[in-house]
Amino acid sequence: MKIDEKECVGCELCLVYCPMGAISMDEENEFAMIDEDECVECGVCFRSKVCPVDAFEEEVHSWPRSIRAAFSNPLLVHKETRVPGRGTEEAKTNDVTGQFRKGFVGVTAEMGRPGVGARFFDVEKVAQALARAGVVFAPNNPVTYLMVDQKTGQLNPEIINEKVCSAMIESTTPLEDLPKVIKELKGVSPQIETVFSLTISSRLEENGTALCERVLKDLEVPFYINGKTNIGLGRPLFKEVS
Ligand code: SF4
Ligand code: SF4
Repeated sequence: MKIDEKECVGCELCLVYCPMGAISMDEENEFAMIDEDECVECGVCFRSKVCPVDAFEEEVHSWPRSIRAAFSNPLLVHKETRVPGRGTEEAKTNDVTGQFRKGFVGVTAEMGRPGVGARFFDVEKVAQALARAGVVFAPNNPVTYLMVDQKTGQLNPEIINEKVCSAMIESTTPLEDLPKVIKELKGVSPQIETVFSLTISSRLEENGTALCERVLKDLEVPFYINGKTNIGLGRPLFKEVS
């Protein structure tokens, strides 16, 4: 994103619109400017139409900077997955692909937030921790597409310093391996410069209980059943095999 300095009248209206705090005034407060390294190309400033003189100019970026908008601008469709935003169809609609079979859990780490964002070197650290625990990464997830090695979770070094609003790593693992996953993620969390949240997805038993609850309680991980529940609003794309 660019601001045309010659057009800007220094009204400061746009400053609060940037979720990354990347817009500031020049020293004499004559015009607004964008910190290119902090800008995640989300397009909020442009789309808000807050600027009275249309000083914002959208740019088309080449690789690797183009990855910023792919993860941060919700209006863009990711070119590999053809899914807008950061996650797969599964993350958006919950259990239409049958990814979470009985005896397995889904493990999703959501890295970054508006206000802090996430650099891919941090996303890689979490992906590597998950890989060490032996998870299988979701094939149609945008972060998986950026991996040069899914066995180690290593990402393409070309994008490693790029910043995005947030990124989602999606994976599955057998329930019995969940303690390994939690141990690895706890181990890596002090090395991360941003925030990440963890979602564990599992099918409920006939009696309505989730088997992962006991495992998480044993590991002293707070457990909240506040996730999405599929009550038929999604159109399943698979047949259950018992
Ligand atoms: S594109 Fe997004 S991150 Fe960049 S300056 Fe505009 S609002 Fe801020
Ligand atoms: S809203 Fe437009 S004119 Fe006002 S400071 Fe921002 S870029 Fe400049």
